[in-house]
Amino acid sequence: MSLRLKLIASFVTASLAIVLIFSAISYNSAKNYSHQNELDHAHKNNIRLIDMLDTKGATLEQIERMIPHHKENDSFYIVIDAKTGNILSQQESGEQNKILNQVIRQIGMISGEIQGIASIQNQNYFWATNSIPGTSYLLLNTFRQTGESVSRFLNFIGLALGITIFIALWFSFWAATILANLYQRLANQKSEIEHKSRHDPLTQLPNRQSIGNIIQEAMIANDDKKENLLLCLVDIHGLKEINDSLGHECGDAILRQVSKRLDDALRSSDRVGRFGGDKFAVILTHSKTTIVDEICHRLLGSLDSSFHIEDRSLFIGATLGIAYYPDHADNPQTLIQKAEIALHKAKDSGKDFVIFEAQHDKGNVEKLHLANDLREAIRNGDLELHYQPQLDLRTGKIAGVEALCRWTHPVHGFISPDTFIDIAERTGIIKQLTEWVLATAIKQCAEWQKSYGSLTMSVNLSARNLHDETLGKQIARLIRHWQVIPEKICLEITETAMMADPEHAMVLLGELDNLGVKISIDDFGTGYSSLGYLKKLPVDEIKIDRSFVMNMKDDENDASIIRATVGLAHDLGLSVVAEGVENQESQDILQMLNCEYAQGYHICKPAPAEEISRLLGNTHPINIKDSQLKNMDSIKPGSSQAYKPA
Ligand code: C2E
Ligand code: CA
Ligand code: CA
Repeated sequence: MSLRLKLIASFVTASLAIVLIFSAISYNSAKNYSHQNELDHAHKNNIRLIDMLDTKGATLEQIERMIPHHKENDSFYIVIDAKTGNILSQQESGEQNKILNQVIRQIGMISGEIQGIASIQNQNYFWATNSIPGTSYLLLNTFRQTGESVSRFLNFIGLALGITIFIALWFSFWAATILANLYQRLANQKSEIEHKSRHDPLTQLPNRQSIGNIIQEAMIANDDKKENLLLCLVDIHGLKEINDSLGHECGDAILRQVSKRLDDALRSSDRVGRFGGDKFAVILTHSKTTIVDEICHRLLGSLDSSFHIEDRSLFIGATLGIAYYPDHADNPQTLIQKAEIALHKAKDSGKDFVIFEAQHDKGNVEKLHLANDLREAIRNGDLELHYQPQLDLRTGKIAGVEALCRWTHPVHGFISPDTFIDIAERTGIIKQLTEWVLATAIKQCAEWQKSYGSLTMSVNLSARNLHDETLGKQIARLIRHWQVIPEKICLEITETAMMADPEHAMVLLGELDNLGVKISIDDFGTGYSSLGYLKKLPVDEIKIDRSFVMNMKDDENDASIIRATVGLAHDLGLSVVAEGVENQESQDILQMLNCEYAQGYHICKPAPAEEISRLLGNTHPINIKDSQLKNMDSIKPGSSQAYKPA
């Protein structure tokens, strides 16, 4: 039954019940009222007759003569002795006398002016007695109840009752319809809100929260763990570039098409959800783990052909990470986590898809522990900064140093910055780490400026630091506090970090440029090498990546790249640092190419502040040899001696 009908039925029932109760009460009141009326009437009849008698006393004969002995309006009278209760007069009709006798038997002892109703042979008889003044007699009047007065009363209220019933029914229909509409509207709104909270507005697919619920339900349905439940996370490539270059509408259109293609590639019992951003989740129930490869190829294949957006044809790729229930996890959160780990592994290793393996977890748990230890180390001041000098090839003097972070773990020993910076970036600890590095390096820079004169301090920034809106203010405060010359602070940012989010980078770099600090492009040549941005961004220097410099003396290609890069940088008014200078030949070639600065193990390995201070104290132009320094960086980053989580 529809809600409207249900409401109408209950409203009508309720109003009918009210009407019935109302009628019953009315009927009862009418009855009581008419009984009272009848009894009053009986008394009145008595008094009318008594008033006709002599008030000083009448004889029984006089009384008998006066009372009607025939039926008068159904009333009949007798005289009773007030002391004995005996009947002193008779009616003409034997039937009437019989009724009167029975009435008196029912009443019992009669005294004074009383009245009542007696029931005789299924008939009600009203009776009323009144004393006859000046005598010891009572006049009893009895008459049969006809029900006329009740029906008269009901006739009177009948119309009102009918109208009331009509209004009540009409009101019931009206109220039920209004309520049903209101309820329907509320129910629609509720289901719309519920739908929105569970679905991605763009693709209309279940959102991340719903994906968890779907997995949970599938797990409950497969409680005996006989069937496998597969979760496959699909990470779409290049969406960010499409958004940046062709606009968000284009990116949105691609996402909608991806959701459709993934759905089409699956069985009807499988589900696709939008996991967030450029990630989708595919949930496959009752699946065999032996066909995972086939499923992955099918999913990847579905995205192979070009996407047509307006008049453009675009291609995108994807990486998949897969985990199973019950093999890899026994709850939705863990299953999602394992699939994410597998996805990371796939991305790190450049594979199209990776199925979760227990050893992935090991590395992850270790990384998690390391992240906690790193957080602790920053808090306890257990990190160290080493500084690697940069040689000015025109003067042979140390022009600056690069601050490089070092962490000696209490258990694992030396951990390469490549390892812990990566963990810091993934976990967000990089913010605190960079704050500490900046504070330590700028303080050190101020000390060296005081003692040894002008020296540039280079500090590395990560991609994530470019999202830190407080970074500019922080640096400004440190510069002010330690009174360093802003141009002597150089911030190194890799090409990749800059290009990851050029809009943000542009804003932050503008802010930093306004402070007067220098900006250097680190690892130049390894990223996009899209030179266009060099003109747009407030960059002062480029650092040629060590991979080109290390082999330049033997590899003509590397040498050519360096030559071209130096030329280009000079054309744009930028200075050049070559990092990874490991031998004198390379240093000589760089000098010949008019590269301004050189940095590398051949000149000096990164070393603690005290050792750099000793070096700076040397007033002669120098060509620093490794042997001049106590070699603090003896464990080469990336060597087998450095701890690395699995
Ligand atoms: P990077 O910024 O490119 O730093 C230069 C790296 O090259 C340093 O490695 C340095 O020790 C190494 N190096 C210097 N000269 C030579 C050489 O002649 N040959 C070779 N093969 N290598 C040389 P390190 O200290 O292990 O740092 C690795 C990376 O970790 C750095 O690369 C930088 O990206 C990151 N890093 C280090 N400290 C910090 C920091 O405080 N903040 C951030 N965000 N990143 C840091
Ligand atoms: Ca650097
Ligand atoms: Ca570098």
